[in-house]
Amino acid sequence: MTAATQDRGPQTHSFALGDPSRSFAGGVHPPEGKHLTEDRGIEPGPSAKELAVLLSQHIGAPAQPAVKKGDIVAAGQQIGECKSFVCAPVHAPTAGKVKDVSLLPHAVLGRAMGVIVEAESTTQPTLPPFQRPQGFDSDAYTSEQICEAVRDAGIVGMGGAGFPTSIKIQPDTKTPKETLIVNGCECEPYITCDYRVMLEWTEQVITGVQLVARACGAKNIFIAIEDNKPKAIERMNASLQKLGLSAAIRVVPVKTKYPQGGERQLIRAVIEKIVPTGGIPPMIGVVVTNVATAAAIADAVVHGRPLTHRVVTVTGWGVARPGNYYVSIGTTVQALIDHCGGMTADAVKVVLGGPMMGIAIADLSTPITKTGGAVMVLTTQQIGKGRFEQRQTPCIRCGRCLQACPENLNPTKIAHAVKNSLMDVAESYYISACIECGCCSYVCPANIDLSGYIKTGKIFLARRKKKMPS
Ligand code: SF4
Ligand code: SF4
Repeated sequence: MTAATQDRGPQTHSFALGDPSRSFAGGVHPPEGKHLTEDRGIEPGPSAKELAVLLSQHIGAPAQPAVKKGDIVAAGQQIGECKSFVCAPVHAPTAGKVKDVSLLPHAVLGRAMGVIVEAESTTQPTLPPFQRPQGFDSDAYTSEQICEAVRDAGIVGMGGAGFPTSIKIQPDTKTPKETLIVNGCECEPYITCDYRVMLEWTEQVITGVQLVARACGAKNIFIAIEDNKPKAIERMNASLQKLGLSAAIRVVPVKTKYPQGGERQLIRAVIEKIVPTGGIPPMIGVVVTNVATAAAIADAVVHGRPLTHRVVTVTGWGVARPGNYYVSIGTTVQALIDHCGGMTADAVKVVLGGPMMGIAIADLSTPITKTGGAVMVLTTQQIGKGRFEQRQTPCIRCGRCLQACPENLNPTKIAHAVKNSLMDVAESYYISACIECGCCSYVCPANIDLSGYIKTGKIFLARRKKKMPS
């Protein structure tokens, strides 16, 4: 029996819709920390003199520069174009002048090409006045029209994955995409941007959901929300009822457990189907999209607006004024933190993303991207007293990492293989099936950064296979 196919006990269980015990095997329950920002409504983010727009903000080939130094660009103009199938264009978030096309800091790649736009004026980004058209009918659009609008708008999975959405929502005649699951779980601790989007942009999200279902042909439509967000569940249900859509789109409360929002974990919880190891949801006729992505789709299709802004949660005890901000893509982390009153004296670490899956950054000129839903500033106390002094100790073979892994992997064996540069062995333990959730590191009593080793191994393998620029 391989690591990935070990029996973890019964995987089928009959749930009634709305049963909060809907979940998956494995996972952890870290402190939620959402109280810092969950009641903070979406506010305009910082005005910026310069925006550093990366050309690589998605899975796939980077966009290629469509402008050069000195060009004048309009707000929403395409500044990065696609030359490959798996790619997404990028657009200028503001009108201005191209200061440079050069290497910029990138949280994952270190440095990557981008376009620096000098803003024509330094006004704060304004919240978009989305208006659901009176008597909106998603059938008035063809699947091709929706996919084209989504592709032209440069929309990618905004929950963190960054896969170009137009490819994901295309219909498939071979394996029809019968089920659409809209991910409103936001299981990552501390982050509340999707929660606020669900509360404040409810009809925009629903409009996007209808458009995705129309594009891919899904007939079974679910919006899955963790049961720690009762207000979002209530708001979504009320809006669906008001719009006469409660029979067509069902809100499914799922158990609050990390990583409930992982695509494979969510599919398991909502429709009790299992995506094969190494496979993707469309293989079993399922499309999963995030609520913020659905909102961006509505904006692109109904109003023709490209993806140039997003809601970002700025949180952690190390920032003076945590909250949820509507931010221009390309705003630096420094500008965003300054806008939130700066860092506290005991701040020690800045993370792009949440505490489980986020990436610590050393360069605060790193820009916000389409997938960057959070900036977290941690203090020594928040990281854990004495954490810096906590040393990694030898594995005690407790098996906690195996129990916690939601993908049924053997994290300790994969990490050991990566540490010893035995990449073939790591592959034989299904390293590529790791969703980088961090559960294994979280539970390890020996403080072994298992997911860190595994992420490094995956980057090494991707570069070896030339799927990632070195
Ligand atoms: S990071 Fe990977 S190996 Fe570790 S628990 Fe998550 S899926 Fe499993
Ligand atoms: S949790 Fe840590 S100590 Fe326990 S088996 Fe896994 S690697 Fe070893």
